[in-house]
Amino acid sequence: MAAQKPNLMAKPPRHAIVLFDGKDVSAWHQRGSSDECKWTLQNGEIVGTPGTGDIVTKQLFGDYKLHVEFWLPNMTDQAGQGKGNSGVYQQGLWEIQVLDSYKNPTYKAGGCGSIYSFKDPDKDAILPPEQWNSYDITFRAARFDKDGKQTENPRITVIHNGIKIHDNVEITIPHTGGAMSDLPPGQGPIILQYHGDPVHFRNVWIVPIKSK
Ligand code: MG
Repeated sequence: MAAQKPNLMAKPPRHAIVLFDGKDVSAWHQRGSSDECKWTLQNGEIVGTPGTGDIVTKQLFGDYKLHVEFWLPNMTDQAGQGKGNSGVYQQGLWEIQVLDSYKNPTYKAGGCGSIYSFKDPDKDAILPPEQWNSYDITFRAARFDKDGKQTENPRITVIHNGIKIHDNVEITIPHTGGAMSDLPPGQGPIILQYHGDPVHFRNVWIVPIKSK
């Protein structure tokens, strides 16, 4: 396995929008409602919580760089997709899978770091459970002409624990499972998925990039 170097407690750059700083969850609401984020706030982390559901940023984004840190519980009585499942959706449409797939095989394009149902990571960069992982994601939105017709697919680069696992990958599917609908072309929120497991997140920030 490649040597992981998680990018932990990375400082948001000057132009970043801080989505979660350890205290304030006001950048988020519960998916499908106007309710404020109901995930558990503890020790500077937000934790997926029964009876809540996914959380979604209030703001929509086009091109951006996103930093997320996540921690997976050691769910020894679970396996496959039942073990530490969450996810980070790009523009509300494409899930970068979060899963404790350390020594826990699952199906194709279902493990941690996969573009869910579309592409496995180029390398396996997951750490054992109960350690902090980082995702540093660069997302380039789809492009549309003036009539709203899509002219270019979105592209994504993902660095997981310091290891590049997707390198400017063209995403050729309109969305992954569990995506949002009715979003404006080329714009969408970030979603943190609640899949029934108490996955922790911290230090979440995004740098919007002016599209050219
Ligand atoms: Mg998931």
